[in-house]
Amino acid sequence: MRLAPELRARDGRLISGGPSGVPVHAGSFLRTREIVLESALLDQPVEFARIFLHELFHFVWLRAGNPLRRSWEALLEDELRSGARGELGWSADGRKRRLGPRDRASRSRRWREYACESFCDSAACLLGGAGDHEEFTLARRVRENRRRWFQSLLGRPALRV
Ligand SMILES: [Zn+2]
Repeated sequence: MRLAPELRARDGRLISGGPSGVPVHAGSFLRTREIVLESALLDQPVEFARIFLHELFHFVWLRAGNPLRRSWEALLEDELRSGARGELGWSADGRKRRLGPRDRASRSRRWREYACESFCDSAACLLGGAGDHEEFTLARRVRENRRRWFQSLLGRPALRV
C-alpha cells in the first residue's frame, strides 16, 4: 500500500497530480497486490479507514470464490425486487443507477461490477465505524440484512481474517 497526492483516474490508469482525469480517493491493482490511497486522506482518519477498507475488500472479492459471490448477488437481487433504493457508497450507487432490466438475468459486466462495488462499499460501511455518512443512502432495514450477511461470512472459519 502506498500514498500519493492528488490522485486522478484517466483512461483506466491512476495518475498523481495534473489537470486531466477524474479525482479519485484510491485505486487497487489486484495483480500486483497494490493499493494506492490519496495522501490527503491522512487528515481524515475515519474517511481514510472507509476508503482503505473498500480497496482491501476488492482483494477479498477476488478470492471469495463463486458460491460466496453468488450468495451476495442473490442478496442484491432480493433488494432490487423489493424496490430498495440507495447504496452504501457512491461507487456502488452510480453502478446501481445504470443497471438495466436484463443485467441481472444475464450477469452482465455491469451487474458483476455493481455486485463487486456494493460488496466493497458495504464492507467499508459496516466495518469502518463511519456512523452516518452522506454516501450511506440505503434504508436501515436493508442495511441490517447486509450486516447479517457479513456477520455470517466473517463467522466462517475459512474466511476469518
Ligand atoms: Zn471499488
